[in-house]
Amino acid sequence: MKQLLKDLIRTKPTLEHGERAAAEVLAGYFQQHGIEAAVDIWDDKRANITAHIKSDGQKPALLFGAHLDVVPAGQEAWQSPPFEPAERDGRIYGRGSTDMKGGLSAAATAIVEILEEGFPLQGDLILTATAGEETDSCGVYRFVERYKNKLPNLVGVIVPEPTDFTIVTAHRGICWLRIITHGRTAHSSMPQTGVNAVMKMNRLITHLTEMQLIHTPDPLLGSPSMSINRIEGGNAPNVVPDRCWIQVDIRVVPGLEPEDVIEQIRGLCTRLAGEDSDFRADIELIRAVPALHVEEDSSFVQTVCKAVDIDKTVAVGYTTDGPHFAQLGAPLVIFGPGHSHVCHKPDECVEIQDLEKGKQYFKKIIRAFLA
Ligand SMILES: [Zn+2]
Repeated sequence: MKQLLKDLIRTKPTLEHGERAAAEVLAGYFQQHGIEAAVDIWDDKRANITAHIKSDGQKPALLFGAHLDVVPAGQEAWQSPPFEPAERDGRIYGRGSTDMKGGLSAAATAIVEILEEGFPLQGDLILTATAGEETDSCGVYRFVERYKNKLPNLVGVIVPEPTDFTIVTAHRGICWLRIITHGRTAHSSMPQTGVNAVMKMNRLITHLTEMQLIHTPDPLLGSPSMSINRIEGGNAPNVVPDRCWIQVDIRVVPGLEPEDVIEQIRGLCTRLAGEDSDFRADIELIRAVPALHVEEDSSFVQTVCKAVDIDKTVAVGYTTDGPHFAQLGAPLVIFGPGHSHVCHKPDECVEIQDLEKGKQYFKKIIRAFLA
C-alpha cells in the first residue's frame, strides 16, 4: 500500500501533467493482482481508471469514487521535493499523499486483499478514480456519462477523501465566477481621457466584500462563503487598462443555486452602473457543483456507520466530486484517511497508521454490503 501511494505521488498528476501516468500506475497495480482495469484516456494526458469486479449479482454493487489529480505544489518551499515521496516520522510526505492518493491507495489495497482472501462477493465491487476534481470535474462527468447505463444497481458510493475518518454526508457546493470590468484605454499621462477597468474593479471588489448573499441558512451547512482568489488587469505600465477580471469562489448551501448568486451580483453591478455611467461588468459561471445532503437515516449511511463503528455523521464546508457521483442515483458518504487541514499546502503528508486503518475500514464496509 505504501509503495502504491509513493508510485502514485511520483506521477505528478497536476492539471499541467495530466492523470494518465497515475491511471497507468493504478492499472498496473490491479493487473499485478489479477484484476482487470480499464484506463480511459483523452487529450493524450487526461485519464480515468475503472476496475469493475463482477459477482453473481445477488446484491447491488458498491462503488468507490476517487480522484487522480492533485493541486500544484505551490510557491512555498517544501522540506522535501513534493513529487518525490519521503517517509519520515511515521508519515509519507508528498503532494497528494492526503488529497487523495492516501484514500485511493487504501481503497485499492482493500479491494485486492478482500479478493485474495477469497471473499465471495455477492454484489459487484467497482473502483473508479477520475481526472480533474481540483479544476473542473471533467473526469467524473465523463465517468458518469460513459458508465451510467453500464453499471449494475448501486447500493451506494464511498468517496475516500480525507475526512479523518468522520462520516461526511453533507457539504456545500461550488459556484466559481469570473467577473470582468470593462474600460477604455488611454495614455496614462492623461487618465481622465480613458476609463480605468482596474479602478472599476476596485469599486466592485469593495462592494462584493461587503455583500451578504441572500439565502436561507441551512441547519447543517450554515451560510455561503465568498473568496476573491484571482485578479488580472492591464497590459502596460503607461496604458489605462480597458479590462480587468477576478475569479471568485463562492461556496453555496442547498437552495442557493448558481443562477441566484449571479442574479444577486448582477443586481449589484446594475446598481453600480446606475451611480456611474462608465461602469460596465460581465459575469461568467466557470464551474458549478451542487451542495450535497444525504439522509443520515438512510439504510446505506446506517450500514456504513455500523460497519466502521462510528455513529456520528458530519457536514463540512469544503466540496468534493460527491454530488457528481450522486447523479448515478445512489446514496453516498465521504469517508477516508487523512486530515483535510494538510491538503493543498506545503509538506502535505499522511500518517502511515491511518492508511492501514483506512484499508481495514474499507474492508469492513465491503464485507457489510457484499457479504
Ligand atoms: Zn480531494
